[in-house]
Parts: sequence; C-alpha cells; structure tokens
Amino acid sequence: MPKAINPSRRRLLLLAGAALGSGALGGIAHFAHADSDGDDSDKHFEDSANTSFTLASTGLVARVVVVGGGMAGATAAKYLRLWGGSGLQVTLVEPNARYTSNIMSNLVLNGSRNIATLGYTYDSLAAKYGVTVKAARVTAIDSAARSLSLSDGSSLAYDRLILAPGVEFSDAYGLTQADYATRTPHAWQAGAQTTLLASQLAAMQDGTFVMTIPKAPYRCPPGPYERACLVADYLKTYRGAGSRVVVLDENATIQAERETFTHAFGVTHAGVISYEAGVTGITIDPLTRRVSYLDAVGAPRTIDAQVVSPIPPHRASGSAAGGWLAAAGLNNSADGRWCVVDVLSYQSTAVAGIHVIGDAASCGMPKAGHVANQEAKICADAIIRLLAGQQPDPAPVANSACYSPITATTASWLTAVYQYDSAGRKMVLAANGGNPVGATAIEAASVSNSNFRQMGTWFNTLMGDSFG
Ligand SMILES: Cc1cc2nc3c(=O)[nH]c(=O)nc-3n(C[C@H](O)[C@H](O)[C@H](O)COP(=O)(O)OP(=O)(O)OC[C@H]3O[C@@H](n4cnc5c(N)ncnc54)[C@H](O)[C@@H]3O)c2cc1C
Repeated sequence: MPKAINPSRRRLLLLAGAALGSGALGGIAHFAHADSDGDDSDKHFEDSANTSFTLASTGLVARVVVVGGGMAGATAAKYLRLWGGSGLQVTLVEPNARYTSNIMSNLVLNGSRNIATLGYTYDSLAAKYGVTVKAARVTAIDSAARSLSLSDGSSLAYDRLILAPGVEFSDAYGLTQADYATRTPHAWQAGAQTTLLASQLAAMQDGTFVMTIPKAPYRCPPGPYERACLVADYLKTYRGAGSRVVVLDENATIQAERETFTHAFGVTHAGVISYEAGVTGITIDPLTRRVSYLDAVGAPRTIDAQVVSPIPPHRASGSAAGGWLAAAGLNNSADGRWCVVDVLSYQSTAVAGIHVIGDAASCGMPKAGHVANQEAKICADAIIRLLAGQQPDPAPVANSACYSPITATTASWLTAVYQYDSAGRKMVLAANGGNPVGATAIEAASVSNSNFRQMGTWFNTLMGDSFG
C-alpha cells in the first residue's frame, strides 16, 4: 500500500537522490527502487519485463520540453521524469521514430554489425516514464514567449527548454550534402550513409581508401582513428596486399588514445595505414574521387582513391546562417558553431531558460555519447533544483568511457573523470592520484579480446540507461 510522505520531505529525498546519481551511470537504479518502496504517487508505469515502479509526486509542476531524442535528449527526458516526478510534464520533440546509434556504427563497415542492431525507439520513454513524444522538428524558438514552432505547423509552450539537436555538417572540400548522401559518405551520423559506405568498401578491389579528419572540436575524438583501423583490418583480411588506407588529419596530432593508435597504425596495421597529420587545403572530386591536399610542409599531393570518406567540419544543428538555433542567438561560441553553456546547469550563456546539452554544447568535455548521457543528468538535476527554488549542484562530476575496436575482435579503451573547476567555471579532467597538473584521460594498457567483449557490456548498459 502506498504510504503518505510529506511533499517537502519527498522533494528533499528526491533531490538528494538526483545529486547522487547525476554523475554516474546506474545511479538511478537506487533511486527507482527507493521510489518503488511505497511512496505515494499520481502515476504508475509498468515496463515490458513486468517490473513496475511509481513516479514520485514531488510537488514540482512545470512543462519541460526536450528537443532531440539522441544520446543527450533521451537521457534528459527520462531522468527529468524519474527525478522530477509526475508533476513535470516532459515532451520530447524528435522527428524520427527510431534513433540509430553512432556508437558501434564503425563496426557496420566491416560487417561485424548490421545497422538494424543499432536502432532504438522511444517506446520505453513513453510507456515506462510517461514522456510525451512529439514526432516533429523544431523550426523556430521564441524565447521571449517561451514557445517553439514545429515542422507540423503546431507550437509548443515551455517553462524550461533543453536543446539536444546534435550536429550538422558543412559543405566542405568541394563537396555538397548531396555528395555526402550519394558518393562520398561521411557516415558521421549513423544511418543511410553508414550503409552506403559499407557497400562501397565491400565493392573495393585492391586500391586506396581515403578518409579525412576535421580540426577539433569534432564529434567523438577517437572515432576517426577507430574507423581507419577497422577499414584497414577489413581490407587486409579480405582484399589484396595493394590495399591502403590513407588518413588525412587536419589536426597536428592524433586527438585521442595517442599511444594506442600510434601503435595500431605503425605496428598492427603497418604497411596498410598511412597517417598524415597537419594537412591543409583538401579538395575532393566526388565523381573521379581524386583527392588533392597540401602535406604538413605545404607540398601539393594527389591521391586517386577508390573510396573516399571525408568527415567534414560540423557544428551544432541549426547553427548555420538562417538556422533555427542561430536565429535564437544560441550559437554564441567565438566561431559561431557551438552553444556556450554554464556547466553547472547547462543553461545557455546567451539566452535564459534554455539549456543545451550533448554535441551541440561547448562545455569543456569531449563530444561523445557517454559524455552526452552525463551532461543530460547534470542538466536534469539542475533544472529540478532550480524549479524547487534551489541552486544547481556546485560540484558536478562526470565520467566518460569509450571503447575503440582496433580489429574485428580486439579493442582498446579510454576513460576519464571530469570535475568542476570553480576558478575557471568549467569542467576539467579530474586529478589522477591527487595531482591536478597534467591530469589526463587513461588509455588501456593493451589492445585485447577481453576489451572487445567488455565493449558490448558497456554499450548495452549505456544505451539501456539512455533509452531503456
Ligand atoms: C562513428 C562514430 C562512433 C562513435 N563512437 C562513440 C563511442 O564509442 N563512445 C561515445 O561516447 N561516443 C561515440 N560517438 C559520439 C556520439 O555518437 C555522439 O557524441 C552522441 O550521439 C551525441 O549525442 P547528441 O544527443 O548530442 O546527438 P545525437 O545523438 O546526434 O542526437 C541528436 C538528435 O537530435 C535530433 N534533432 C536534430 N535537429 C532537430 C530539430 N530541429 N528538432 C528536433 N530534433 C532534432 C536528431 O534527429 C537526433 O535524433 C561516436 C560517433 C560516431 C559518428
């Protein structure tokens, strides 16, 4: 039988639970169980596994709209309901019925995974947590009226707004969006382009696969190097000795897991991968697949490739000139590509009442799915506290883990903890062993089969936490 709990006491319990869980995957497990111990409630949801829990009644009443049902937005919508309770009316606006995970999508290229295994629906968010899912795209924000315009012609009012729209890709290297879609896929947003790139790779004979990496910051720092390794592994396993992977990096060095990838390029895939850092002036002919560029010392080079996968520069979705995010003045980084946020709440530093999380935000942490999940929890916790008349957690902590397959059966990993630096008002790498100077992310000591197996557990846990 439900037992009565004084609403203000409940709210304190709830906010304490939110604080504990905000930085960690799985923190919610304790919280959900605490709820099911018999708190009173307005709403009761059951999941398909026949477990059930009760959403708390916290006394908080507000309309929160979340835009974008990717890693960041799905997590935020779920945790707002779990921690904020049934009085929070949470609407998730997302045009697609199904989300395709970018994480693990490089494994589609070598045939290890089918793209269909990377699909996630919003059914759990709706059925288990009572999130209202609106199938539409946001086309405009009226921040003064606190209202959104949607692609179906309707409008949606909010008290607090979270934007998690991910990234959009620039026309670059002489290529257009149509070239990316049909000839030279970047496949940096998993889906049709991933399948296209996989089929181009499968059709390759002995020849050269060229890929490019844009200047940081970009989505998933280790991801391009992981792609190079998997394509090289595939070509040397299934094609002739003449196959090559050329990696043209616009950065001066490898951007993540430097030791791991230096070893992978120079030893594991020696003779197959050719890595060139500091290249400039890339141009790509989408019809002939001729790639021209200047090498690190400015010498002109040309490669005739069989397959080209350029990862073009990207920016927060909607931040191009005339875009819906730009029109609201939210893309306030110096280069106009990202949304600068206060990392205690993820509230935009440009527009009050609007929070930005995930890859679209500029917050000092890498653009990664695991990090997006963490930002979502910090943001959800902060919004609940603000609605309750409190201040955001003054010392948030976030963790990040990332596994990188190096071959079809082995993987490496990278992990880091970030903490709030009140002097710089930003998230910084936490000190390892108490020494804040030179704190770094930690790489796996070696590449192994067991890392590859653990990668599956990590992935399923992360996706379950975000969408389940
Ligand atoms: C090949 C590859 C491998 C990766 N591997 C890893 C990894 O191993 N580990 C890791 O942590 N990260 C990895 N990442 C990075 C990770 O996928 C991203 O950092 C993460 O998806 C960012 O989440 P997000 O919610 O910001 O954006 P997304 O997940 O892209 O979601 C954005 C959502 O917003 C929606 N949207 C856009 N515009 C609108 C609009 N106007 N209205 C409504 N909705 C809108 C989109 O439809 C989309 O569903 C990888 C990325 C790639 C490309």
